Amino acid sequence: MAEKRYKIETLCPQCGCSAVSHLNTEEIRERYGDVPNVEMECNECVIKYTTDMKEACPEWDKECKMNQ
Ligand SMILES: [Zn+2]
Repeated sequence: MAEKRYKIETLCPQCGCSAVSHLNTEEIRERYGDVPNVEMECNECVIKYTTDMKEACPEWDKECKMNQ
């Protein structure tokens, strides 16, 4: 059975370029833990920014709440 992957999409507030990652449950937990924010570093202008998890990945956000 294929493991479910979540699409996490973020947008840099400075240059507007978007970053998309596809992570499975384990990878999301490892990288972001249970925090409601996603911390990203822009590939273009290398600034760090945070995005709400519910905006970056509504699907994961929903699942998180269901498991609580
Ligand atoms: Zn940027």
